[in-house]
Amino acid sequence: MAEECIFCKIVAGEIPAEKVYEDEQVVGFRDIKPAAPTHLLFIPKEHIPTINDLTDAHEALVGRLVRAAQQTAAREPLSGGYRLVFNCLGDAGQEVYHIHLHLLGGRRLGWPPG
Ligand code: 5GP
Ligand code: ZN
Repeated sequence: MAEECIFCKIVAGEIPAEKVYEDEQVVGFRDIKPAAPTHLLFIPKEHIPTINDLTDAHEALVGRLVRAAQQTAAREPLSGGYRLVFNCLGDAGQEVYHIHLHLLGGRRLGWPPG
């Protein structure tokens, strides 16, 4: 756990979050400032700052994040589809330096993103 990381604190239960998914490796919860009717975040329990910090050892974990999102999407009103996004570093708008997979849906999403 990284001392000042807000998502590590959510994993530890030190700050509240509306959890929608949890297993041994991954937690999913609702984004505090939703950008779409459904906006969920899926994070590893392990503190990994950015996508650039992933190694071969994380391959199964990244697969688990995507599967957790897929499984949770099936329980949300997302029959029209949804988008999965990782932002990496400042140009992509990364604000929290603990990797997280955004799941967005429930409205027509523009492409390409801004
Ligand atoms: P990023 O811009 O780093 O890809 O996305 C960070 C996301 O985390 C943003 O959508 C932001 O609203 C969300 N977020 C930041 N702090 C919190 C928090 O304390 N709780 C929850 N649930 N979401 C947060
Ligand atoms: Zn962290």
